[in-house]
Amino acid sequence: MMKVIAFAVRPDEQAAFEKYTNELGIDMTYVNESLGMENVAMTQGFETVSFLGNCDLSRPVLEILAANGVKFLASRSAGFNNVDMDAVRDLGLRFSNANYSPNCVSDFAVMLILMSIRNMKAIMKRTEINDYSLPGIQGREMHNLTFGVIGTGRIGCETAHSLAGFNGRIIGYDVYENESIKDVLEYVSLDTLFREADVITLHTPLFESTYHIINAENLAKTKPGVVIVNCARGELVDSDALIEYVENGHIGGVGLDVLEGELGIFHNNHRLSTLSNHQLAILERHKNVIVTPHCAFYTDQAVSDMVEVALRSLVSFVENGESSVEIK
Ligand code: NAD
Repeated sequence: MMKVIAFAVRPDEQAAFEKYTNELGIDMTYVNESLGMENVAMTQGFETVSFLGNCDLSRPVLEILAANGVKFLASRSAGFNNVDMDAVRDLGLRFSNANYSPNCVSDFAVMLILMSIRNMKAIMKRTEINDYSLPGIQGREMHNLTFGVIGTGRIGCETAHSLAGFNGRIIGYDVYENESIKDVLEYVSLDTLFREADVITLHTPLFESTYHIINAENLAKTKPGVVIVNCARGELVDSDALIEYVENGHIGGVGLDVLEGELGIFHNNHRLSTLSNHQLAILERHKNVIVTPHCAFYTDQAVSDMVEVALRSLVSFVENGESSVEIK
């Protein structure tokens, strides 16, 4: 029986783990904690390891994994900026990510867009205290807006398809143009996107080329009242520049499912502890900034897909020497 060790296992993943370990004949060792330097020793004796985006797969950890005999790594997350891919290649390890249903994130992005243009945070806060007045909560209509999609991969395309139903204009920017989306989205330069979009939604991975793609220089090009939505990775947005443009009144609304420095904060209960991310504390206070705890992925379908894709990938690596979701 194939032995796998899975890190960062959450209780809500258990049903999917049971289903697919039974179906695929896997002897699974479950670890609730995230993988990192402190527990990488547990991988001794395993050829295959699964983990999530909150685990530390930096070079020193990967060196120990390789020395322990690990050959195949399968992330149950789509983003893999936590994995040092140069070290993976140098050490001869093989790695795959989980390309689960993009709809979980695209639905969430559209929801944050709608909530932002209709001032939903302010409306909900007011109604909580029996304030049912209208001044200050007037919104805009979707069909009158231009949506700028940065990154037109699986999630960006699905978001564009969903937005198309609202009959606005959709423009997009990607380093590679995707022919199949050109019926709903017009490709433009990044500069044009910043200048013409009323709503900008981010769907690129975190790379050096996308780090702080939303910064002061680019925000200065945007239309007054622009809405910024980030359901990709926190580091795509320079939080300090974002705060500056919220506070000077230029930005009309923000929806953030991810945030710089979120690790250790999002997915944890901090009711009784001090919040260590001051940008988060500031952003939370603004009536037109919605922050959600990196939960766009978190649906019944996606959680099951994440486990299934990762386990099937590990089985395929071991049995066939390849995986259809391998990242090289
Ligand atoms: P994908 O690989 O299908 O698409 C990414 C797209 O970004 C590609 O088309 C690529 O060409 C483009 N891109 C790369 N570099 C670029 C650049 N410099 N400028 C413009 N475009 C660039 O990935 P996906 O499945 O659509 O996921 C996108 C990202 O969403 C993931 O990498 C992950 O970080 C994030 N994500 C977040 C959540 C969440 O819960 N919030 C869940 C899943 C994924």
